[in-house]
Amino acid sequence: MSKRPFDIDEALRRIEAAVADVPKAALFQLYDEGFRSPFEQLAACMISIRTRDETTVVCARALFALARTPAAMAALDVVDIDTAIAGSTFHQPKAAQIRAIAEELVARHGGELPCDFDTLTAFRGVGPKCANLVLGIACGQPAVGVDIHVHRVTNRWGYVEANSPERTMAALEARLPRRYWVDINRLLVPFGKHVCTGTRPRCSACPVLDMCRQAGVTDHR
Ligand code: SF4
Repeated sequence: MSKRPFDIDEALRRIEAAVADVPKAALFQLYDEGFRSPFEQLAACMISIRTRDETTVVCARALFALARTPAAMAALDVVDIDTAIAGSTFHQPKAAQIRAIAEELVARHGGELPCDFDTLTAFRGVGPKCANLVLGIACGQPAVGVDIHVHRVTNRWGYVEANSPERTMAALEARLPRRYWVDINRLLVPFGKHVCTGTRPRCSACPVLDMCRQAGVTDHR
């Protein structure tokens, strides 16, 4: 099939329609439920690392039932945080890291998580992905949150050519219109889970097949 040039506006419009009825990515789901502060979004993102969205949402709700602010979190025993997020992968170190961040926010930042990339990534357990998701979702700043789905899908499109999520983030910052910097994660996480899956993507049912280069795809449905 001859391909049309990749049109990001058209592609994201079609994908928006394609994922309308599937569950949202965890952080966006939690945001819709009212867990909108930078600290809540950061804690949820840490819980989400190597953990399925469905589990992340359950764990985050359980944790926020105990504490929603750095001061309240710092007052908890780490074992209580660990119990709340016990369904997530690496829950013990995550519990310790969440509590340590809460303590530091109380001690050094007036009990608030600053909307600042360098401050966020200086915390143990917080990488560029979570920092940018917090900045984009909770702080309203343009920031590209690149997880494995965003990395895989945008490279298959041929929209970027990068061999790590960090390099994809830099490539998207250079090419993707700023109005999509937050939405790209909101749209491509469910799209990557349900259509452009890690193995055997569903290309035959894909709404952007006519413009996707299918780079690196050797087997598909
Ligand atoms: S055509 Fe295939 S590889 Fe390209 S985005 Fe769709 S599912 Fe993914």
